[in-house]
Amino acid sequence: MTQTHVLGYPRIGADRELKKATEAYWKGDLDRQALEAEGRELRKRHWAAQRDAGLDLVTVGDFAFYDQVLNVSVLLGAVPARFGAEDELARGEVDLDTTFRMARGRAPSGEPAAACEMTKYFDTNYHYLVPELHAGQRFRLASSRLFDEVEEAKAEGHAVKVALTGPLTWLWLGKGRGDDAEAVDRLALLDGVLEVYGQVLSRLAEQGVEWVQLDEPALVQDLPAEWRQAFERAYHRLQSAPVKLLLATYFGGLGDNLSLVVGLPVEGLHLDAVRAPDQVETVVDRLLPHKVLSLGVIDGRNIWRADLAALRERLAPLKARLGERLWVAPSCSLLHVPVDLSAETELDAELKSWLAFARQKLDETVVLGRALGDRLTASDEAFLADAAAALAARRESPRIHRPAVADRLSAVSRADSERDHPYVERARVQRQHLALPLFPTTTIGSFPQTSEIRQTRRAYKQGELSAADYEARMQAEIAEAVSRQEALGIDMLVHGEAERNDMVEYFGEQLDGFAFTRFGWVQSYGSRCVKPPVLFGDVARPEPMTVRWSRYAQSLTDKPMKGMLTGPVTILQWSFVRDDQPRETTCRQIALALRDEVADLEAAGIRAIQIDEPALREGLPLRQAEWQGYLDWAVDCFRLSAAVADDATQIHTHMCYSEFNDIIASIAALDADVITIETSRSDMELLDAFRDFDYPNEIGPGVYDIHSPNIPEVDWMVKLMEKAAERIPVERLWVNPDCGLKTRGWVEVEPALANMVEAAQRLRKRY
Ligand code: GLN
Ligand code: ZN
Repeated sequence: MTQTHVLGYPRIGADRELKKATEAYWKGDLDRQALEAEGRELRKRHWAAQRDAGLDLVTVGDFAFYDQVLNVSVLLGAVPARFGAEDELARGEVDLDTTFRMARGRAPSGEPAAACEMTKYFDTNYHYLVPELHAGQRFRLASSRLFDEVEEAKAEGHAVKVALTGPLTWLWLGKGRGDDAEAVDRLALLDGVLEVYGQVLSRLAEQGVEWVQLDEPALVQDLPAEWRQAFERAYHRLQSAPVKLLLATYFGGLGDNLSLVVGLPVEGLHLDAVRAPDQVETVVDRLLPHKVLSLGVIDGRNIWRADLAALRERLAPLKARLGERLWVAPSCSLLHVPVDLSAETELDAELKSWLAFARQKLDETVVLGRALGDRLTASDEAFLADAAAALAARRESPRIHRPAVADRLSAVSRADSERDHPYVERARVQRQHLALPLFPTTTIGSFPQTSEIRQTRRAYKQGELSAADYEARMQAEIAEAVSRQEALGIDMLVHGEAERNDMVEYFGEQLDGFAFTRFGWVQSYGSRCVKPPVLFGDVARPEPMTVRWSRYAQSLTDKPMKGMLTGPVTILQWSFVRDDQPRETTCRQIALALRDEVADLEAAGIRAIQIDEPALREGLPLRQAEWQGYLDWAVDCFRLSAAVADDATQIHTHMCYSEFNDIIASIAALDADVITIETSRSDMELLDAFRDFDYPNEIGPGVYDIHSPNIPEVDWMVKLMEKAAERIPVERLWVNPDCGLKTRGWVEVEPALANMVEAAQRLRKRY
């Protein structure tokens, strides 16, 4: 037989029960007992799903009320002093509210304190709580939750495998806080961390756990030599633990860490055979004869139905070589895909037949496992035949393959990504057309999404509001935004994005090739879930998407109105993307659709167009060696959408992060006439990268942080811009907030922008 398992299962619940319960608990509408009961219920349900599907092991340890990396921090007693948890640590039991305070600063009990930092987990859209480290840190076993969960699973009669973030990846993801960020020597903490892992493993062994999966995705990244040595040291030490260790790697190939990994003294190794199929044979050749190899062949990062026939064929020779030592699994935890496709009663049957969510991936894993032996039942045969038919249909479907899109793409030439003239000449023409003052003021696009706006959109979607009424209501919102901006004296206006619920969904809904699910939620962080569109087919734009709003907005004012688009890379990055062609090709298709929108906006008299690319940076591959390849096509896609504009049309872009040093050449290569960025929290030092690079075009360094409700003072913004002016020539500086204002209220936005305009006026007098 072939053992089957998953690295982890989504914990949010098919109906986002976990989100609802934790939020109710935070609000005081649900007590602790009820919250814990909901957690138990979800775990029970998810283990049952795994067993009922036929998996040989169920996974325990993937549940978290907030985040699984935070759970390990708590398990290790890595609770920063400001949370005042000394007593809890001494007792060896950190309270759940302390965990919540670490995650979000406050909880129903305990003093509020600054939350730990949160950031993206490898190249996923999942955010983890960064383990907070400091020199001389002590660790101690400080939670029994994991052991309790093991008991729960045993009580249900399950064969348990425990999954935990491994010690090196936990440290790798960790950081010192503030000024300590660079200084702490993480590896100096390893021994203390291993001590506790040793205790955890012993306790699990006492509970009768045979296998423990230690997740070490750090192994698919470029590791410094001392980290590789640390892996050797750590796993030699853990070797003495009385359990079998399954070392899980995923999100990519082992690359130059391959020799290291196959040599580690563990009983099993899991590989991501979806992202990195080529490493499998090499690993098999070098695998010691007692080791188990778990192959992640079902895509844990995407929602497509697997090609089980092809996998069966691919795995057969490996099965022949490895026998019982071959295990089959999804590539990574199913945390990154939605829960259950069967809830999607409104998706058309054809599209649905191409998809598999977490629940369906369990079945795929199990049937594939059985298909490698000879335990196939009649219903397995039917399952395989069904999958084969669906895949064949998908390969041929005219809904996916639109010859016109392919033809257009193949006719694209280099020149299509080039504006007519270089920036310097464009800037001259634009200055004449736009007649802007020095230090022009603008905003990033959205204005407060009031509850009336959201209600109006909802009513329209549900058919309670006619198209004409909706149109009129949105126009009224636009008119309101325009008159407020005029009254404030802003130089380049925006229409305010009242019609948009989400910057990707808005475009996806109007483009061919996208579909939307009703319950396709994926955890993003804590209780927050996102519902990415499904990009299933060739992308085309049946008709203009934003033009009527922009045209209307421009008709209300003599000031230039900025058109507002989401860029191709961001649309790609925030969707589930088809797996039957390179991401680059899909991105170019989106770029061409946006290119038509740029052309139409320009034809409608819009003289400035912003193409937002907040996700450009997060698309960077995990391996440095692959960065340039990605950046080249990503930049080219942006240019392809923008370059159709005449010299006189000013192209803006916006990015909301503050790390540009290592990608500054690519940022410059976008050749946007103006880039607005987040800088307010970095005291303009971030502009050093632009100065050192001699960044040639215009920059709007955000002068205030829109995430804070505080009203920025004029002096403060003037000072920041003075710092900016030390780095960038004043003719190329803009004055703007650091991101869109949709999450704020007008009571904050109006005075903040009034101050911002006044700051610009003062600057004009000075320079
Ligand atoms: N134009 C968008 C807005 O203002 C940009 C959002 C973003 O940067 N994420 O809301
Ligand atoms: Zn932003």
